Amino acid sequence: MPVDENTTALVTGASSGIGEATAKALRAKGATVYAAARRLDRLESLAEESGCIPMELDVRDRAAVKQIGEQYPVDILVNNAGLGRALGSIWNAEIEDIEMTVDTNVTSAMLMIKAVLPGMIERGKGHIVNMGSVLALYPAPAALYGATKGALHKLSRDLRQELQGTGIRVTEVNPGRVVSEFYQVAIDDDEQLAKTTTTNVEELVAADIADAVIYCVDAPWRVNISQLEIMPTEQTYGGSQFVPFKRLDAQ
Ligand code: NDP
Repeated sequence: MPVDENTTALVTGASSGIGEATAKALRAKGATVYAAARRLDRLESLAEESGCIPMELDVRDRAAVKQIGEQYPVDILVNNAGLGRALGSIWNAEIEDIEMTVDTNVTSAMLMIKAVLPGMIERGKGHIVNMGSVLALYPAPAALYGATKGALHKLSRDLRQELQGTGIRVTEVNPGRVVSEFYQVAIDDDEQLAKTTTTNVEELVAADIADAVIYCVDAPWRVNISQLEIMPTEQTYGGSQFVPFKRLDAQ
């Protein structure tokens, strides 16, 4: 399905990082692009630069999300809004952080899909792109975030089954480390933030992921790219770890 001036796209989390780059890339192909996020000032700058249409939206706002399906003929939904609070230890997490992360990354993504799918099915065309993570696929000490992205992974695969015969495509994109504001939002402690973000390797940039999204959505209609895993060349998997038991209170 070529992306052109007849295409309408909605990108959530378009005020920074991967979402912003994807909104720009879709716009550059000629699509009408609704760029959704909470920070309207960022979206307005994006609109000025690229011609995207700003949409001030908290994806957890149930009524606003429901309306989107009724108001906009969305051909491409990029479910990208997400965050990773409480990285490192779910047992120390604030309940609010757990709820916010699950709601933003999973429930809201599902409700966004629920909102746009009826129109897509009626029009006989549509593409859902879910922004996952390699942490959906491999173990890491990020149980809360990994669980939410794991849910998106299963959601994407099962949706392919639910949508058989409709012509609607579903793609799951699982990036490794990408330079963005993700870790600034995720981690409050400056020392921990510096430690986590200092990789000494060449990390992916948001445009790398945007290019991959364009490849998927612009592919001929017969092609459904179900799952993409994209890592920096210098990032790989953790493997087994052997860590001797040590009581936390025994110093
Ligand atoms: P950023 O923090 O730069 O972008 C996150 C975006 O999500 C922002 O535009 C933010 O906008 C939006 N967002 C967060 N909460 C809400 C909300 N309640 N309603 C609407 N928008 C919201 O990070 P990235 O670009 O890196 O992250 C984009 C996606 O990519 C996320 O799903 C993330 O999990 C995933 N990812 C990132 C990786 C990385 O290494 N950076 C690796 C793998 C996956 P605003 O605050 O204005 O609402």
